[in-house]
Amino acid sequence: MDKPHALLVASPGLGHLIPVLELGNRLSSVLNIHVTILAVSSSSSSPTETEAIRAAAARGTCVITELPSVDVDNLVEPDATVVTKIVVTMRAMKPAVREAVKSMNRKPTVMIVDFFGTGLMSVADDVGMTGKYVYIPSHAWFLAVMVYLPMLDKLVEGEYVEIKEPMKIPGCKPIGPKELMETMLDRSDRQYRECLLGGEEIPTSDGVLVNTWEELQGNTLAALRGDGELNRVVKVPVYAIGPIVRTNGPIGKPNSIFEWLDQQPERSVMYVCLGSGGTLSLEQTKELAWGLELSGQRFLWVLRKPTSYLGVNSRDDDQVTAGLPEGFLDRTCGMGLVVTQWAPQVEILSHGSIGGFLSHCGWSSVLESLTKGVPIVVWPLYAEQWMNATLLTEEIGVAVRTSELPAKGVIGREEVAFLVRKIMVEEDEEGRKIRAKAEEVKVSSERAWNQGGSSHSSLFEWAKICRLVSS
Ligand code: UDP
Repeated sequence: MDKPHALLVASPGLGHLIPVLELGNRLSSVLNIHVTILAVSSSSSSPTETEAIRAAAARGTCVITELPSVDVDNLVEPDATVVTKIVVTMRAMKPAVREAVKSMNRKPTVMIVDFFGTGLMSVADDVGMTGKYVYIPSHAWFLAVMVYLPMLDKLVEGEYVEIKEPMKIPGCKPIGPKELMETMLDRSDRQYRECLLGGEEIPTSDGVLVNTWEELQGNTLAALRGDGELNRVVKVPVYAIGPIVRTNGPIGKPNSIFEWLDQQPERSVMYVCLGSGGTLSLEQTKELAWGLELSGQRFLWVLRKPTSYLGVNSRDDDQVTAGLPEGFLDRTCGMGLVVTQWAPQVEILSHGSIGGFLSHCGWSSVLESLTKGVPIVVWPLYAEQWMNATLLTEEIGVAVRTSELPAKGVIGREEVAFLVRKIMVEEDEEGRKIRAKAEEVKVSSERAWNQGGSSHSSLFEWAKICRLVSS
């Protein structure tokens, strides 16, 4: 008999593609079902996206088909943000996705879209699938804010950035101006309206899969499912099935990063990386460099070209390091390693010499860190990362934060050094607590995915409802 078949649709952009590829892999390997992933590419898709698809396809667990995206230039304003373009693109992909499904030999029973693809859910009804689900590769606070947004839109007058009292969202710490998602910063922008529409569309699905776990965010998940206000808003079942993260790949050919890491003491290196796209100003790059040097701690820094430096987005490695203070590389030689543009993050975080992570707090990076027990210095830059930073520091307790929001001001070298030392240096009491908590979270993340663990059970509960596995 044919295996049951689930269809996943990934929106363009590495930050959306990777979590869907990982979800597909997990569904296929844990549930033993057939999984097809339609990966919508865009004209600006990077070689790294193609590489991610190639690597995922090589695992052989899912069938991955790239769908070239339609041109939406005539559907969006010339100055439309990336978020607007992605949402509009996904909506415009409806005919292509419908045709792709119709041409499949084996019809999928359920469709899962990421949260930029909620406009595609009607395809599942059109072709007679039994269920349509939304995958939130982010956390439960993010989901809560998304589904509560239509309510906030009615309750709050004026711009959210100007509110005096932080907003109370059931199950979350109050959300003030410093936790807002980037899409909420300007209500007159179309990306806000698209986000609002997404918040309205999520509850029209048959359920939501979210990349967190009960033991990490039990309160928020309870509020989403309980009898309170949030549940009246979300209405559909919420399945916490995280953490779903990339697993280590083989290191393969001799690699200078790992040769260097192998020589460093246990938990002695601060890993610095700002996600797939994060960059800093020239001034901030210099202060960060000085701060790392001042901290006296070992570091591994994935450096990008400062945004205001030389003006063009070059991939020339010389220009990248030219943003560093004079003599920095010589002075820190032995203590620090600077790699340019990109590094194998999951493998790095898995290395025993890593003791901390200065991160932009993209949720994939956060989960990759938490599952390895690595505490974080939060350095949020865009998207929902400011909220993630508060979640990590004030609720979960695995991170330290800067006094100001990075990207809103320059974080000085003394503060960088102070935060790095807090995470890395043994004697600091607060740092000790944070490291202990990070270890605790690592253990709970493993338990969630053990046989019978919360996320494992939640995934099977969902799969039974979808008739992907027998009860
Ligand atoms: N990543 C990596 N090497 C890098 C930068 C990023 O492997 O040098 C990976 C990282 O492991 C994560 C993803 O890219 O899986 C970034 O996703 P995240 O949600 O953290 O941030 P985004 O890039 O979407 O802002």
